[in-house]
Amino acid sequence: MSASGEETLSALAWLVEAGADEAIGETPVDRFVARPAAQATPPKAVAPKPAPMRPEGPRPLANITPANVAPLATDGFGSALEISARCNSLAELKAALVAFDGSQLRKLAKNTVFADGNPASGVMFIGEAPGKDEDAAGLPFVGRAGKLLDRMLAAIDLDRTGAYIANVMPWRPPDNRNPDPGEVAMCIPFLRRHIELAQPRILILLGAVAARHVLGLNDGIMKIRGRWLEYRIGTAMIPVMPTLHPAYLLRQPAHKKLAWRDLQAIADKLDSLGAA
Ligand code: URA
Repeated sequence: MSASGEETLSALAWLVEAGADEAIGETPVDRFVARPAAQATPPKAVAPKPAPMRPEGPRPLANITPANVAPLATDGFGSALEISARCNSLAELKAALVAFDGSQLRKLAKNTVFADGNPASGVMFIGEAPGKDEDAAGLPFVGRAGKLLDRMLAAIDLDRTGAYIANVMPWRPPDNRNPDPGEVAMCIPFLRRHIELAQPRILILLGAVAARHVLGLNDGIMKIRGRWLEYRIGTAMIPVMPTLHPAYLLRQPAHKKLAWRDLQAIADKLDSLGAA
């Protein structure tokens, strides 16, 4: 990763604001030195290792079928499920979303905001939904919250070449209104397939909405943030951590210290996975 002087200063400012008051090591750590360039299918080196299943604890949403989300089910949901299951690469999934005609939101949005960053990095961040800037650019987290996310990544030696970023919703709800349950439900099969195809080694959920739709947890984000939970991809369980959304941190800067703690735990997890 190379950073300009301005980016380095911005990352330092974030660290100081978050309460960091000492440097732990003399030498910067490049956790991704051996990582290959971006590609649709991660190479063997970053494929998730099967992890033992846990007998209890928060569980990912069980296999989603139209039947088990009956109250939300619509024809759009059924076709989302079928279409996403047929996609065998990120490129196919993106094309399927762009062409998907089961969602009013897609018709109202300027762009389908699929993802940004490096899917081969092994680290996937999931936010909520694109805002105005993201809808215009067709990329997630490019507005104010995105700038803060970039500083958070820089604090643990990551940037968009060393992380992969997507949202629960690929389309901006008009005027940033809350999407209705049916609109969200239609995006979930695509989101789950997105995670399966990206095969991250760890998953970071930005805010309560991502935690609710990825893990099925309805607890407040303050209660669940900073905890390592598990998410199933095929037969493997991967570590997943809910943390605070950068847009929330812009409104509540005093809570940056909590996000800072979570980032440290993420850096430690990356180190331990790198060593495994
Ligand atoms: N907030 C999100 O959750 N996602 C974006 O892409 C931008 C802002």
